[in-house]
Amino acid sequence: MCRGPDDKSLVIRYRDTATALNGEKRAELAGKGLLNAAISHLLFAYLAENGIATHLIQVLDEESALVKKAAIVPVEVIVRNRAAGGFSQKYGVPEGTALLNTVLEFCLKSDALGDPMLNHSHITALGLASEAELAEMTRQALVINGLLCTLCEKAGMTLIDFKLEFGRYDDSLILCDEISPDSCRLWDTDTGKKLDKDRFRRDLGDVLGGYREVLRRLRHARSL
Ligand code: C5P
Repeated sequence: MCRGPDDKSLVIRYRDTATALNGEKRAELAGKGLLNAAISHLLFAYLAENGIATHLIQVLDEESALVKKAAIVPVEVIVRNRAAGGFSQKYGVPEGTALLNTVLEFCLKSDALGDPMLNHSHITALGLASEAELAEMTRQALVINGLLCTLCEKAGMTLIDFKLEFGRYDDSLILCDEISPDSCRLWDTDTGKKLDKDRFRRDLGDVLGGYREVLRRLRHARSL
């Protein structure tokens, strides 16, 4: 992240570094930044076309973009369509189990504390976001989920879960950060093959092969 041409913008650069287990596992995957940039820019453009306000101003090159300098709300919003990962572990539900409704989780954005889960009263008590902001993040997260599920379905992928971040900019909340296989679980719809960062987390091999496949399929789905 570095300064933009004025004090209302920033330049973000997508990194090749992959981390997991709260930073304990780390590797350099040459080319990951380029793939995540392309995937995230495609998804942000798609969401913007469908009425979601995002931080993206302009793609600068293959690995960087100019974005609005929003004040990040220190709450990660996790959206789950099927059980996996932390949810499966915590509640003892097999991965892939369909959920009867979409699950939204809010977590404190703090690596030092391991991103603990927050309920609404924690969020307002700690002054992390107001009731109105919480309602708006919830509304936007559900709209974004519907849009992403539709696109992923066209791409032959199931969107299992993902993480969003929002920021305050000109008195409204806008979608920030990135949406990529680093922050989503995406499974091939027919085979259940994992195409996301679980390939790195779980040593499944060919991490970037999965990311390349996600990009190829999303480009195709966008062209339909
Ligand atoms: O680990 P867990 O199952 O809670 O993650 C749920 C989803 O949120 C996954 O898609 C994961 O990639 C994403 N996530 C993230 N950054 C975090 C925590 C979760 O991108 N700090």
